[in-house]
Amino acid sequence: MIELLQWRIGDTRITCIPESCQSYPLKNIIPDANADRLEVHRSWLAPHFLEGQDGLLISVHGLLVESRGKRILVDTCIGPHMPGHENSIVFLKNLEAAGFSPGDIDVVMCTHLHFDHVGWNTTLIDGQWVPTFPNARYLYARREWDHWNNARDKGFAMTFAECVSPVMEAGLVDLIDMDHAITEEVRLLPTPGHTPGHVSVLIDSRGEQAIITGDMVFHPVQWAEVNWLTGGDGDRDQAVETRCRIRDRYADTGVLIIGTHFASPTAGYISKNGDEGYWFKV
Ligand SMILES: [Zn+2]
Repeated sequence: MIELLQWRIGDTRITCIPESCQSYPLKNIIPDANADRLEVHRSWLAPHFLEGQDGLLISVHGLLVESRGKRILVDTCIGPHMPGHENSIVFLKNLEAAGFSPGDIDVVMCTHLHFDHVGWNTTLIDGQWVPTFPNARYLYARREWDHWNNARDKGFAMTFAECVSPVMEAGLVDLIDMDHAITEEVRLLPTPGHTPGHVSVLIDSRGEQAIITGDMVFHPVQWAEVNWLTGGDGDRDQAVETRCRIRDRYADTGVLIIGTHFASPTAGYISKNGDEGYWFKV
């Protein structure tokens, strides 16, 4: 029996639904990273987020938010699309282990439309890609949809035709503003840069708050090194600006930060340590 990470924020409950976790060499994830700077942060990065000399641990998971009777699934992982990911059915098994079948999901919220966030939006049945969550409304930010729908080069949204547009064709998509409120406790935070319509999710209940990051930060080391960009950051200046804004706003506030690619324990707090700068406290 797998133990799923779970957090309570006021009246809401958030459950991590994992698909995979792997280590990648620093330079593969963050090409301009500096190995000496990584050493400076080793004491708080290891062992949760750093493996061996320079292996960044990267998790792929969805986050199920229960709020006001609604079951909101934030991001749907890579799914069965990429070579080496044939075992991604484990995501739906873990959802089942958390107590939910696909028919129980009310809302699927995609932080952005890159391949590792939309993979289980659809399932292949009789040669057709059909929505995996038949009773859900799928929420795409209008700006995000417009961007990738019009993009000739789909880039990291390379599974758009299999995972994103079939849901639109099935009539299950609502195109929303980037500050949309899903329930009274769950609303979106515009965090553009990684992609044009990228959003994070703010959970606010009974005086407690948490943020689901999406990819506005990919690895916790970027709270300390905000200028470190991943290969997926589309607009480099805006990605850094967004990361700085969120870091400055939420450091030392007690707001729980739940990373969309942060390895277990996945959640923690941005903290400022005087002149030594920022770090991530689990
Ligand atoms: Zn991602």
